[in-house]
Amino acid sequence: MIIDGYEYRLQMRSVIKSSWCCTQDFKYRCKVRLMATGKQIQIKDCAHTHEKTFKGNYENLKSYAITLEYTKKFRRLYTVHFARGRKNPIMIIDGYEYRLQVKGAVRSRWCCTQDIKHHCKVRLMATSSLIQIKDCAHTHERTFKGNYEDLETLDITIEHTKKFRRE
Ligand SMILES: [Zn+2]
Ligand SMILES: [Zn+2]
Repeated sequence: MIIDGYEYRLQMRSVIKSSWCCTQDFKYRCKVRLMATGKQIQIKDCAHTHEKTFKGNYENLKSYAITLEYTKKFRRLYTVHFARGRKNPIMIIDGYEYRLQVKGAVRSRWCCTQDIKHHCKVRLMATSSLIQIKDCAHTHERTFKGNYEDLETLDITIEHTKKFRRE
């Protein structure tokens, strides 16, 4: 794969994602890595230690339009759980429970269930493919003490953020 004149070699491929590394990883100890999922590529450690390597002709190559994102850390898929609340569903991430606040057509907003009792300000914004967590320091212990076996699960990308980003 060639991006911006740099060449990357496929390292690992699974059903949902593939990992690539710079072809100059040994020769120039270049540590640039990519993770590709669907139409999105994340680039980690984006400073190459060498010049651009591709000198060929782009005309004979296949090309794709994709979203590129530069990152310090690859985002991972997490398993989140859902339980029935008294009125609204509860989402459980890492032992903390969140209550559905607003459900829109594309995205929904959730807040920590301890928002009043413990003045906890942790908030989530969820779309079908991404959960963003804002102000991620809870003011209290983990709240979920139940059994995960009875809950619905979903594998989704989670991103910790200072400010919600619109997709
Ligand atoms: Zn490189
Ligand atoms: Zn909380």
